[in-house]
Amino acid sequence: MNVLVINCGSSSLKFQLINSESEEVLAKGLCERIGIDGSLTYQPAGGEKVKTAKDMPTHTEAIQFVIDALTDEATGVVKSLDEIGAVGHRLVHGGEKFASSVIITEEVKKAVEECNDLAPLHNPANLIGVNACEKLMPNTPMVAVFDTAFHQTMPEKAYMYGLPYAYYEKYKVRRYGFHGTSHSYVSKRAAEILGKPYDATKTIVCHLGNGASVCAVLNGKSVDTSMGLTPLEGLVMGTRSGDIDPAILEFIAKKEDLDIEGLMKVLNKESGVYGLSNGLSSDFRDLCAAEEDGNQQAKVALEVFAYRVAKYVGSYVAAMNGVDNIVFTAGIGENDGAIRAEVCKYLQFLGIEINKEANAARGEEVIISTPDSKVNVLVIPTNEELAIARETVALVK
Ligand code: ADP
Repeated sequence: MNVLVINCGSSSLKFQLINSESEEVLAKGLCERIGIDGSLTYQPAGGEKVKTAKDMPTHTEAIQFVIDALTDEATGVVKSLDEIGAVGHRLVHGGEKFASSVIITEEVKKAVEECNDLAPLHNPANLIGVNACEKLMPNTPMVAVFDTAFHQTMPEKAYMYGLPYAYYEKYKVRRYGFHGTSHSYVSKRAAEILGKPYDATKTIVCHLGNGASVCAVLNGKSVDTSMGLTPLEGLVMGTRSGDIDPAILEFIAKKEDLDIEGLMKVLNKESGVYGLSNGLSSDFRDLCAAEEDGNQQAKVALEVFAYRVAKYVGSYVAAMNGVDNIVFTAGIGENDGAIRAEVCKYLQFLGIEINKEANAARGEEVIISTPDSKVNVLVIPTNEELAIARETVALVK
């Protein structure tokens, strides 16, 4: 079956068409600036990537362009819509309502809408994508795969904040966690690569991209993760602050005369390694280059980043009373051997030994620990689209 995987934001939409038997990506692309001016980038497998300006006032036109491209006589990869068996949608926030992926029905859409408060930027945009697809492909089953679902196995002690209980009862203020599809895919893959049973393994996944989170996976279940009610908690990220003393908000608000919106903008867009490097860059390639040129701010940003990751890994060793596997994934985790080595240096007390040559690898599945290392350390490229396609097929079959 061919599965169309859709990741829909407020003004952009990423897609992949995946053959679920061969797991081959038949075509992929991106619609950008929906509602502004609009463009479609489309690339069939083995073909050229082409970007074309397209007038797309709404997501419905965007999805129509995607369908046109996929079925185009010259560059398309299927003859008609009949060859697309299902659509898998990435949805950001399922709150406490969704602990797994589901077939999308009117009831499901209503329940997702009820979680809109928890992810006001993402959930409404995700739902617009669902509605647009339903309009154009009324007979094709749609599946929702939630970023939060994998973490619904977290115990209360991990997801409750030290806040008045009424906030949880009234507003569901608690930790949810994100990147669930990636943490699930990567932790499972580690067990497969090592030939160990997934349901009897302690794994810590470091998903280090522009957004970054760490997850403790005990016997196949997420028991803790660094992101919280929103993706702002936890690690120092590209532009997000991660954990800070909450009293800083009042202090900075007064000093800089900022309202709550202004503060949130600082914490989400102007902090992290970008803020630490004095606005130099949020991209680790730039920061590494600047560090080599002797830029002290870039050096500090990279040190703060790695130290925070190591502290989270250490705390999850305690949460699980041990660890068998540590996995690095996403843009930084897959490509930046220096950051991996720096994180692992803090963890030598666990008996971790890194093979320097293996750690030079970029973007491929590789075990970077030595055979004598007490903990397996791996690099596993994440593949959220494939994971969504698998979940989708499992439900519609
Ligand atoms: P997201 O999906 O959260 O936007 P990604 O997982 O794509 O993020 O990661 C993007 C980040 O990965 C970039 O901002 C950059 O910091 C980092 N990155 C990508 N390639 C490399 C590389 N070759 N070396 C170091 N860092 C890299």
